[in-house]
Amino acid sequence: MANGDDTQRALAAAARLAQAYLASLPERPVFPPATVEELRAALGGALPTGPRDAALVIEELAAAADPGIVTTASGCYFGFVIGGAVPAAVGADWLATAWDQNAGLYVCGPAASVVEEVCRDWLLELLGLPRHASFAIVTGCQMAHFTCLAAARHRVLSDVGWDVAEDGLAGSPPIRVVTGELRHITVDRALRYLGIGRRAIRTVPCDRLGRVDPAALRRELASGSGPTIVVAQAGEVNTGSFDDLVAVGEAAREAGAWLHVDGAFGLWAATSPRLAPLLAGHELAHSWATDAHKWLNVPYDSGLAFCADVEAHRAALSVTAAYLVQDAGSRRDQVDWTPEFSRRARGFAVYAAIRSLGRDGIRDLIEGCCDRATELGAGLAALPGAELLNDVVLNQVLVRFADDAATARVLAAVQASGEVWLSGTTWQGRPAIRVSVSNWRTTADDVRRTVAAFATATG
Ligand SMILES: *Cc1c(COP(=O)(O)O)cnc(C)c1O
Repeated sequence: MANGDDTQRALAAAARLAQAYLASLPERPVFPPATVEELRAALGGALPTGPRDAALVIEELAAAADPGIVTTASGCYFGFVIGGAVPAAVGADWLATAWDQNAGLYVCGPAASVVEEVCRDWLLELLGLPRHASFAIVTGCQMAHFTCLAAARHRVLSDVGWDVAEDGLAGSPPIRVVTGELRHITVDRALRYLGIGRRAIRTVPCDRLGRVDPAALRRELASGSGPTIVVAQAGEVNTGSFDDLVAVGEAAREAGAWLHVDGAFGLWAATSPRLAPLLAGHELAHSWATDAHKWLNVPYDSGLAFCADVEAHRAALSVTAAYLVQDAGSRRDQVDWTPEFSRRARGFAVYAAIRSLGRDGIRDLIEGCCDRATELGAGLAALPGAELLNDVVLNQVLVRFADDAATARVLAAVQASGEVWLSGTTWQGRPAIRVSVSNWRTTADDVRRTVAAFATATG
């Protein structure tokens, strides 16, 4: 059968090219050389008029795209907060594509549905969350915020007698959101999607390490009333610092507010007995958002939403009857928990990552990244003119050099070296360099190579 052969040859070509790519990690420049013009020239052209052999399309795509592929799989990529991908998750993700399930409804993919139930139970245990909490696998933490905050909006309004599903937001009692000044921008964006604009957000100052000031938060909560959502952060993107979730949780409870936690990467501290104290109090929250594609090292895209208020979660997102609560004995239709209708079977890769690493392997992955970050912080701090700006409590390192011009020069030189890659930021009004260690591949040798690249750039 010609079509079957085409599929076999396309998959064989993809497997060969993917393996060659991963084998080339140590030699590839960590940031690719191509300019946007070169990529447009290589990939662009007129709309194809006729068919082309599938395997050939794969070969040509790989050749044209290769100079524009960022080597995020490398142990020397430290930009933003970008995880790698563990082998079992990569394999499972390929299978998910071949199986091509529509994981919105049980009837469209029974195994995909059950795998997500299993992921829910495993993740609730791993992350120290209430065992009854509801769960959704979405595209990323952005949509996990959206999912959780939709549940929050439903609950805080229904508490004052307003049914947002029935009556919408126009004319509803106003919702206020109280959160730290260093929250992630995706929080504001999720709120905007939900009809909660910037003016509804009351911003509370943070300390030198990026943690919200709990006394100021308490004062802000006391200064108003009505439906209230508090958004706390576990893992600030520059410093990796954690809000004091005990103090924030108590303040939110006293104010009768919904507490949502942005733990895009920081929630994974729960998997390590050594790091878990950073998260103390996180069980006081009503919802939690995190990523699988960052620190669990699952391929993009994969975010996780958890909600202790199962009924609010279902009421906010269900496409069937909003007043029904989950029947524990029933089959899971993911559409009742996610913003999407048709969706990719993301659970397979999450399942495979957890199954392959196990509890101990996940702890080692998380602790290993934090240990490498500590070594990197020490190595960088010893360089001439370097100033370490954070306490390295997790996997983030923040550094600057003698002055702003030196910081910019060092960052540009290190990025251009091809040896390593990391990104810049602005911290307390001045340029800084951030290092995020989020990849299972990063070794102590990679740390030495990174410090050496910095030493060359500062020398
Ligand atoms: C990355 C990140 C997000 C957004 O996550 P996506 O997966 O990119 O949608 C939100 N909050 C924090 C703290 C993050 O680091």
